[in-house]
Amino acid sequence: MSVALFALGGTIAMAGTGSGGVVTRLTAADLTAAVPLLADTPLDVRDVDAVPSAALTYPRILDVVDAAGAAVVAGATGVVVTQGTDTLEETAYLADLVWRHPAPLVVTGAMRNPTLAGPDGPANLLAAVRVAAAPAARDLGVLVALNDEVHAARYVRKTHSTSTATFASPNAGPLGHLVEGQVRLLTRPTRHEPLPPVDRDRLAGTRVALHTVTLDDDVALLDAVADGRDGLVVAGFGVGHVPPAFAPALGALAERIPVVLTSRTGAGAVLRNTYGAVGSETDLQRRGLVNGGLLDPYKAKVLLRLLLAGGADRAQVRAAFHRHG
Ligand code: ASP
Repeated sequence: MSVALFALGGTIAMAGTGSGGVVTRLTAADLTAAVPLLADTPLDVRDVDAVPSAALTYPRILDVVDAAGAAVVAGATGVVVTQGTDTLEETAYLADLVWRHPAPLVVTGAMRNPTLAGPDGPANLLAAVRVAAAPAARDLGVLVALNDEVHAARYVRKTHSTSTATFASPNAGPLGHLVEGQVRLLTRPTRHEPLPPVDRDRLAGTRVALHTVTLDDDVALLDAVADGRDGLVVAGFGVGHVPPAFAPALGALAERIPVVLTSRTGAGAVLRNTYGAVGSETDLQRRGLVNGGLLDPYKAKVLLRLLLAGGADRAQVRAAFHRHG
């Protein structure tokens, strides 16, 4: 049994500079050295990047997924990726959409950097390694382990800017917990088929925008946001509503590019057939918008970009959101 560990920076790997704030500077070996209990699990550690997670990109994450897959093929029981928590809900979902191995890929990070009292990085790293090594975690795709909880990448959200309990799965709850160091999984969602491997050149040329509607929003913004884009995600009010003036504008855009309707609330589904006003979910679907279901706006943007980079047509985009949303 061995676990491959890929270190991508973030707060978990930050240390002081002497002047100013902390920056990413700890290596994977530094991270593991801080956790004596890891000694019972053989680790194959690799430093990929030492960056804040705001600097991560789709190609970088897809490269890590490829390298993680190669580690599994070479015999690793599971994989752990450490990174910043800021973009973790997006990177983990991106990885989950393309991860095609039964072995778990577990993403973790930290909210308190190592210079603070009670840093959570060591405990989160230990938990992630235990999940990666656990037979019960197989066939669940990409998982997120922090704060002694295990979440499915496709459900997890960062819900607080500083709390160590920031990661939550509002629509589903955690899949399980670490109890006295043991992995206890309580529920096993069915895996979706992974998407086909992503062509990096097509991905680079595929641009998807996200617009969050706000009270008394300026409809002129829409054209600016969508200009030159191949797809658009709209984070609507509540169950998927927009100001009335947005409805025809979104309908016109939906004739040109896929436009996916999500909710800006952070939990719950976009409805399909409850409200009937102009700008309601029924009106927008009639105008050609794709229902994003339970996917939050950030995850919908990841899925739409991968689908379009893979050459999906309208019907395939709609079918994929029906399946994944
Ligand atoms: N800003 C940091 C990052 O995302 C926060 C963290 O690591 O949790 O890299």
